Amino acid sequence: MADYADWTLQRGDLNISRARAALDLLASEQRQTCSPDDIARLQELTTDALSVEEIAITSSGRVICNTWGLVRNEMRLTEKSIPLSDGYSLRLNGGGISTPSNGMVVVSHGDYHALLKRARLVDVLHDTPMLLGIASLDGQPIALSGDADPELVSRLVKEETSGFNESEVFASRRGKDFAAFAISNRSVADWRTDSELWKMVPIGVGISLALIALIVWVSRQRLSLAGELATGLHKKELLAHYQPIIELSSGRCIGAEALVRWQKPDGTWVRPDLFVPFAEQNGMIGQVTAIMIQNVILNMKTALAEHRDMHIAINISPQDLESGQFLTLITDEIHAADVQASQVWLEVTERGFIHADIARTTLAKARDAGHVIAIDDFGTGYSSLSLLESLPITVLKIDKSFVDAIGRNAATSLVTPHIIEMAHSLKLKMVAEGIETAEQETILRQSGVQFGQGWLYSKALPFEEFITFYEKRNAGQKTVRR
Ligand code: C2E
Ligand code: MG
Ligand code: MG
Repeated sequence: MADYADWTLQRGDLNISRARAALDLLASEQRQTCSPDDIARLQELTTDALSVEEIAITSSGRVICNTWGLVRNEMRLTEKSIPLSDGYSLRLNGGGISTPSNGMVVVSHGDYHALLKRARLVDVLHDTPMLLGIASLDGQPIALSGDADPELVSRLVKEETSGFNESEVFASRRGKDFAAFAISNRSVADWRTDSELWKMVPIGVGISLALIALIVWVSRQRLSLAGELATGLHKKELLAHYQPIIELSSGRCIGAEALVRWQKPDGTWVRPDLFVPFAEQNGMIGQVTAIMIQNVILNMKTALAEHRDMHIAINISPQDLESGQFLTLITDEIHAADVQASQVWLEVTERGFIHADIARTTLAKARDAGHVIAIDDFGTGYSSLSLLESLPITVLKIDKSFVDAIGRNAATSLVTPHIIEMAHSLKLKMVAEGIETAEQETILRQSGVQFGQGWLYSKALPFEEFITFYEKRNAGQKTVRR
């Protein structure tokens, strides 16, 4: 429960920091006149700053323009606000500059205001009976994912705590600006006995038939994909391609990420972002991971034995972390092939940390076996700093969206230096993902990011092509021991 409270706090902080970043840009650019150029900039920042729905500029408390244009009717900021750190403030119920009924909170800095949907601050988990909430440090509820007992809430936000009563378990966390809490029924058995579905039964035979047809169609599609994937796994239609990873200071190729590819017998390729999530949801990802491990060792054992400073990174799914079976398989394969454990990196995403204790146990075993553990797509999930510190991670992969933002004057670009700084302070090595331009490479290298991967260097390659790339790229360069 404490982890859930922690994630909620991180989620709230992240959303507010995106709003802050957009407001800081407006202030630094001195956008005050609401010229057509200013309004175009408001629109651009609203699109860029994920979770910001609208931005407004006021003069003496009156809104003069917002993302949608000039504002002629009288709209005034409400006086009452919750102070946040660094001179920002927060207003509830639309803050007077948006209709109260639409559930907006307003983050303000001077005359600049960003509107966020209140519900966004707590949308940490989907489809859960758990109640998550954020409140001001003095106990005013800001966003709740459901109904909560006000007395329990005010007790939870007063100090960090965790515990239970006859009917609920709960925990709370306090941050710089907010307190967050998670409350769950002790018995989830009675969860949703008044499910929405039952209320909808008497809607009419026509709709029911259409629904049945839809369900049949969807399950056929699922069955056919499940069947095809099972056949594909059995017939070994899945294989690994390798995307080179480059040391930014020297330009050397130091290894590759293995990315799964599926070519069907008719020659068509299925994209991994379609079938990997499907395999995860349908209990088939363990087999995909196993095929990848076998492929990687089969393809790369000679090169890995020849170049001890070369590594291959394998993607590990949350379910793999839970079962831990992949580790036995890797150990068996590398022993039979004269490959060192340090040459096999494991990429895990923040989604894998939902069950933090299980992840910690499996990752500790992997670290003890000698593997390097990287956190993938960093910045897109919800894991907290304290959680990261408690896991044996030594490499952080900066997600492509943060690399894309570099040099674009987008709100997210303000977050990138923070991620880099954080990695430095945690002494983590970094791999920047999705580098496409020389400008991105230069900025990342100058910021002390050690490694990069992306189309600037190469797309993922079949293994023979990767070996050629590696030899060519490193020709004449001395091997460096890491
Ligand atoms: P990922 O692990 O973050 O992999 C990086 C993705 O970014 C790859 O897409 C790669 O081709 C793409 N990429 C790399 N550089 C660039 C660039 O410069 N520009 C652009 N636009 N894209 C770039 P891919 O191969 O389609 O894989 C998508 C995702 O599928 C992966 O993201 C990973 O989450 C998952 N995946 C791929 N292979 C495996 C696997 O073997 N096991 C598991 N569990 N997941 C996998
Ligand atoms: Mg990856
Ligand atoms: Mg990634």
